[in-house]
Amino acid sequence: MTLIDSQAPWEKPCGGGVTAKALSSFGIFESDLPRSTIDRITIYFGDSCSVTVSPNEPLAVVSRRELGKYLMEEAERAGANIVKNRVTRIERTPRGWCLSTRNTCMQSDFLIGADGATSLVRRSVSTGLRPKDLCVTLGYFIPGTFPAHMKIYFVPEFEGYIWSFPRPTHTSYGVITRSDPGWTGRAKMLLSNFMAADLGSEVMQQAEFYSAPVPCLGPNSWKKNQISGDGWALIGDAAGLVDPITGEGIYYAFKSAEILAHTIERLELYGPKVDMEIGRELTRASRMYRRFYRGRFAGADFKKRTVQLAQRSRTLKIILGNLISGNQSYLTLKKNLLLSIPSVTVDMIWGRS
Ligand SMILES: Cc1cc2nc3c(=O)[nH]c(=O)nc-3n(C[C@H](O)[C@H](O)[C@H](O)COP(=O)(O)OP(=O)(O)OC[C@H]3O[C@@H](n4cnc5c(N)ncnc54)[C@H](O)[C@@H]3O)c2cc1C
Repeated sequence: MTLIDSQAPWEKPCGGGVTAKALSSFGIFESDLPRSTIDRITIYFGDSCSVTVSPNEPLAVVSRRELGKYLMEEAERAGANIVKNRVTRIERTPRGWCLSTRNTCMQSDFLIGADGATSLVRRSVSTGLRPKDLCVTLGYFIPGTFPAHMKIYFVPEFEGYIWSFPRPTHTSYGVITRSDPGWTGRAKMLLSNFMAADLGSEVMQQAEFYSAPVPCLGPNSWKKNQISGDGWALIGDAAGLVDPITGEGIYYAFKSAEILAHTIERLELYGPKVDMEIGRELTRASRMYRRFYRGRFAGADFKKRTVQLAQRSRTLKIILGNLISGNQSYLTLKKNLLLSIPSVTVDMIWGRS
């Protein structure tokens, strides 16, 4: 097995947020990988409305350089040959594939595309993700130590959110929104304002800017999303496996890699298994996207009302905490919300916040 990556390990543009679901699913997180453990998350809606939740199981925030370093070491220990080079061209040959770099052509009988949202492998074996299936992110890394307090900020009339995720040696501030020039211009301004309000305007002097696309497939795109074929398979972002509402992709990258490892000898099982274990959840998220970002509830923005109700209800705070930590599936969210109505009502009457 040969692992080709032009940059890894590197501080790739990412929040580095690892949900409790991911922490408990993969052995790698039982290691001493440096992390900030997060048990307090504040969700803001605009400037006047916020709620702080403490999930039952904490989340973590990691540096992607540290995570990448750990993964490369583990891959090497498992016998992988690591090549630090950029693949510029991929061609099918009678014996499999030829992967060209600047100075060589590497032969391979099977090709796994783990090369991110703009995957060359994906573009070579089928078609790349279309602009409407990509969200844009931009943000800043700020060096220093910060309280282990995660912040998520929703802005009225804005599709996306701003985050502040503290890591052991720096913090990642960023914003995710639709990839459309109107949205990105506004996103950058909103993020600068949020950071200035949070840390003071002088913070921008040490800020390191980043920007990157992230898959956010719509409901129709899931149906056409082919992730394996004759002699090839895609995992992680290359396969489009990201939660379109939150942008969470680390869990899905690991999970799809794990499923592929189990099915590689019977590749026809890979797609259906990913569909069952990941696709159903993410398709539901893509269907909820519109209601989440544009829906209204009791005469106001859906998110604003959720924050307001959670301020007054312990039950809703728990559900929200579980949703953020990955322990509340989108598939059962509606049912759980309906079942919680009596407890929420009691919370409101008795002031149990
Ligand atoms: C700004 C931002 C914030 C995010 N925040 C979070 C978060 O907080 N939590 C979360 O769970 N998810 C988050 N995500 C999503 C998450 O980063 C991805 O889903 C995850 O990294 C996917 O992993 P991957 O291995 O599929 O792809 P990537 O992590 O993108 O890795 C692809 C690798 O392929 C290499 N590569 C690409 N092309 C070539 C080539 N031609 N030749 C050689 N090497 C190549 C790159 O160097 C890179 O190392 C965020 C994404 C962004 C953009």
